[in-house]
Amino acid sequence: MVRKKLQFVVSVWMVAGLLNIFTWTPGVAKTVEVFPNIFTIVHEEGVDSNTTFIISKQGVVVVDTGVSPLTARKVMAEIRKRTELPILYIINTHYHGDNTFGNQVFREGNTIIIAHENVRRALKGNAGKEYLEFFKSSKIPGLDEVTLTLPSMVFEKRMEIYAGEYHLQLIHRRGHTNGDLFIQLAELKAVIAGDLIVNGQFPDMRDSFVDEWIEALDYIENQDIEMVIPGHGNVGGKTIIIAMKHYLLNLKSMVGRQIENGASLTQTKKALRPVLREKYKSWGKAERIDGNIERTYMELSLEKDS
Ligand SMILES: [Zn+2]
Repeated sequence: MVRKKLQFVVSVWMVAGLLNIFTWTPGVAKTVEVFPNIFTIVHEEGVDSNTTFIISKQGVVVVDTGVSPLTARKVMAEIRKRTELPILYIINTHYHGDNTFGNQVFREGNTIIIAHENVRRALKGNAGKEYLEFFKSSKIPGLDEVTLTLPSMVFEKRMEIYAGEYHLQLIHRRGHTNGDLFIQLAELKAVIAGDLIVNGQFPDMRDSFVDEWIEALDYIENQDIEMVIPGHGNVGGKTIIIAMKHYLLNLKSMVGRQIENGASLTQTKKALRPVLREKYKSWGKAERIDGNIERTYMELSLEKDS
């Protein structure tokens, strides 16, 4: 019941909740060789997602494509410095613009774009057009060039890809959005997490499902994983998963206590904003705290009512 109601909440937020999320700042990017032939472009500022590319013997797999063709071309240049092999697969970890708007740059003749079915649903038709128009209003450079380029292959729960010598398990869990996937590279004890995990910054929770996000992180934490490639911020070890989970658990219990005490949303924000700011003072994107409280308050109130 709660999950059904939250579907509605998502659609409202898709339109209304986006209005104050972006102040665009140019990102500083660095290319990190996470494993031999697996590289992550880490954007330390700005809105761009991390992009990871895997150079297999057969061709290249690109995970998340940046917020614009402008960014994507820089990533493509990094790929082409290292290989002339074709781009086999593009994987979008979810539908947000910073993960999908660069798709067109990497798509060559037979490239397949893979995502969860809800990603295609979110980007197609009028919803996709409105979503792009919203981004255009946020003064991020290069968005006029974007042609929404949809996933050409979708899945519901799980999918496996054998690209050359690499085996990728794509697993869907709801959390950051309703269309998240993370990629497990079991042989390497690694996970490419999308925005289910961000490192050193408050997450963007405008389309999120707090309880299911915690469940997803529990699942990832219980895998045999040593290397975590987050959606934003530096790569690291298992501590990144734990930090993310603890943040959500803290947020949930603090907001829950406020609701139990009869606090309104405004009172809850006022009470918790400084506490969260202080507790996570090394984290960036503190402007997201209010939105995080709001989303959690909404979810917990619906649970209470049902
Ligand atoms: Zn995202």
